[in-house]
Amino acid sequence: MTVSAVLQTSFLGDMVLTTPLLERLAASGPVHVVATPASAPLLAHHPAVRSVLVFDKRGADRGLGGLRRVAARLRALGAARAYLAQGSARTAALAWMAGIPERVGFETSGGRLFTTRRVPYARDQHHAVRLWQLANAPGDAALPAHPLRPSLYPGPEEHAAVDRLLEAAGVLPHTPLIALAPGSVWATKRWPSFDALAARLSTERGPAPARLVVLGAASDAALARAIADAVTSRGGAPVIDATGRLTLLGSAALIGRSRVLVTNDSAPLHLASAMNTPTVALFGPTVPALGFGPLAEQRVVLELAGLACRPCHAHGPMTCPLGHWHCMRALDATQVAAEVQQRVG
Ligand code: SF4
Repeated sequence: MTVSAVLQTSFLGDMVLTTPLLERLAASGPVHVVATPASAPLLAHHPAVRSVLVFDKRGADRGLGGLRRVAARLRALGAARAYLAQGSARTAALAWMAGIPERVGFETSGGRLFTTRRVPYARDQHHAVRLWQLANAPGDAALPAHPLRPSLYPGPEEHAAVDRLLEAAGVLPHTPLIALAPGSVWATKRWPSFDALAARLSTERGPAPARLVVLGAASDAALARAIADAVTSRGGAPVIDATGRLTLLGSAALIGRSRVLVTNDSAPLHLASAMNTPTVALFGPTVPALGFGPLAEQRVVLELAGLACRPCHAHGPMTCPLGHWHCMRALDATQVAAEVQQRVG
């Protein structure tokens, strides 16, 4: 039995994509995870996780004093091996200061000086696979035997919150849901035609017309309002605004109830992968080949192939460096609607 510590203090999506590594390690012993305050709640109820240690690297645990405090807590967990799923020198130093004897990280990582073993960063693989490969034996470049899919476990509280939201909106148990996630931290990754898509979808009629639900953080409320206004002007059923109303795992539960999610290249895409919800993913300044595409069994990526400036950034810039933002503006709501309709049935 080996006690492992996995240090993942990057973005929310990275934590979701770390779950296949956690499952792999859990087969050999307890797994403790070091996480940011934002991503720690994602791991609630996860059967592969023994405990989550919060590292508030930009807040309460900032500076050398904070690093020492968290290192002492990490040391007390008695891990024999640390996996540095996030590549910064600060996170790697944390594992070193905690006295964890074996420290495995990517050979490209900024913290590689603190590692005792370096693993190739497989640029041609999905990021979930790269992270999974951290647990490979020394010198082994093994790939997973089956396609990887991340995992999350919303609990009774999260499901109850979704029940309340849907009941309040008058959604019946058999009503299909179409989830829309129009937000992204990076402005150029926000597809600007979610309102046109929603207006088009809201005119669909049938024995059980779908309801539209908008997911996201409280800061996405204005995007949700624009979508709701577009639907109202076409006489469609009211859009359910879930922005800022659910926890991350609650959002995962809601995505799990939905027939399909339409999303930018952002965290909800990875929640849908974990819930295996059919995914229509819209990529602009980034490309799936960077390693962050959808992993649900039913998935489609819509992008402007052949645009020479793509990808222009690892995450997506705040403004288009060329000014025209063609990568996103050219994605057509009619085509996106057709992909959605195929999946709603
Ligand atoms: S430079 Fe190209 S890929 Fe980048 S935001 Fe502009 S249009 Fe999109």
